[in-house]
Amino acid sequence: MPQEEQLGQRPFSATIKRHATLDQPLPTRIAASAIPPGRVSANAVAIVRKLREAGFDAYLVGGCVRDLLLGRTPKDFDVATAARPDAICALFPRSRVVGRRFRIVHVRMRREVIEVSTFRRALAEDDESVLDSTPNMAESVHAPSAQAHFSERGMIVRDNAYGTMDEDAFRRDFTVNALYYDPAADAIFDYCGGMADVASRTLRLIGDPAKRFREDPVRMLRAIRFAAKLGMRIHQTAVRAMEPDRALLCAVPGARLFDEFGKLFLSGYGARTLELLEHHGIMRILFPLPHPPGDMFQRAIANTDQRVAEDKPVTPGFLLAALLWRDYAEQAKLVSALPRGERDQASDDAARGAFARLRETISPPRRHAYFAQDIWQLQPRLERRTATDVTVALGHRRFRAAYDFLLLRAEAGEVPAELAQWWAEAQTADPEDLRQSLPAAPKTRRRRTRRRGRRRNAASVHANPLRTPNGAAERAAPPPA
Ligand code: ATP
Ligand code: MG
Repeated sequence: MPQEEQLGQRPFSATIKRHATLDQPLPTRIAASAIPPGRVSANAVAIVRKLREAGFDAYLVGGCVRDLLLGRTPKDFDVATAARPDAICALFPRSRVVGRRFRIVHVRMRREVIEVSTFRRALAEDDESVLDSTPNMAESVHAPSAQAHFSERGMIVRDNAYGTMDEDAFRRDFTVNALYYDPAADAIFDYCGGMADVASRTLRLIGDPAKRFREDPVRMLRAIRFAAKLGMRIHQTAVRAMEPDRALLCAVPGARLFDEFGKLFLSGYGARTLELLEHHGIMRILFPLPHPPGDMFQRAIANTDQRVAEDKPVTPGFLLAALLWRDYAEQAKLVSALPRGERDQASDDAARGAFARLRETISPPRRHAYFAQDIWQLQPRLERRTATDVTVALGHRRFRAAYDFLLLRAEAGEVPAELAQWWAEAQTADPEDLRQSLPAAPKTRRRRTRRRGRRRNAASVHANPLRTPNGAAERAAPPPA
């Protein structure tokens, strides 16, 4: 059992400055922390040591301490220190300042990147000393203490007001994320009751949940993410505050929401995350779609979770393709009725239209939209399987993703299971066998038109390896996933 002692009763370290007030009590020090030393990153410990040798207080903090106490392997390690960004950069040559809203230093040590942040204080919205000063858009690393600023809605748009360790604890989001670990003394400093909440697996916001969500609505997503990943319970006060405040998520910049989207759904706990987001009414805020994301999205999430568990690569584009599929497919149905020459443009427009629905929220970067569009536009080829379709599809760089998408559609009963099976075999089939197994082309007017076209352009016949006796050998190999 960890042994607890009140700092106020028994001072233990000259390096800890004590700024406690009635509102901010002194921390409880927990000696013999039960954190197995072998699980702590040696690089993070080296950074803490070096900062201390240079005269700056420093601790491991945040998710790594929380996860270690829960018996899990941390995803990454964060260090909090009294050193300012410029001092950190001076100490560690392989470091760089990142972030604007919240400036931290990435210190690279061997192959690991440790996030080092300077102790900060929370600022009140009516803090005139801050509101009076105009933000300097060209802040440099050497800027003195920068300011936190609030948007008109009370949202923090910048959070760089430095403070003491005591103040730093109270500006963090959840009590379990505000535990400081001193690796040299194997001691934990708990200002907000985080140890008790770790023990009861409770996610409790520090301070008034409504106010904390208004300051930064992303904390709602963080609550859900940690609840899903760590099997923790979100405290009732926070759950209650989510309902009126969840719409504030729309005011968060798209790039930050997209970043969170990745953490929510690509970390291996997507299925549980999806349940919780739905339960708390956040799905329809993040994804304001005409149809709620249905079966395909659920299947894509399950597929992604499975891939993460198997250490395979995952991509947001695939999830987005599933999320918007219904919306796109409805438009695409109309596209197929158009004259040939208009279809490509109309199909692009349908894809753009589907993605436009996310513009006001997670606003995915364009490359992910193109990825999804490729997957979508390959689907009719995978279904038709003319010789040209097969050649084009197998040689397409998104073939593997489009095929995985087809598998989900087969699971969902949208296309026959035999079609998915055919494509599974096509990837390794002997070209002659493959040619034999192509479905008979329907005898339609369209076919006649194509034949005329081929006669006019004989070269195109030979460009299709499945139609030439030896061309199959030229078929492009499917790219790796
Ligand atoms: P993980 O890294 O496992 O996703 P984490 O808690 O370490 O979880 P980070 O984003 O790495 O999350 O943040 C490190 C710490 O910074 C958090 O534990 C928390 O103390 C603080 N923090 C991060 N984001 C916020 C926020 N939006 N509001 C208040 N504090 C935050
Ligand atoms: Mg972290």
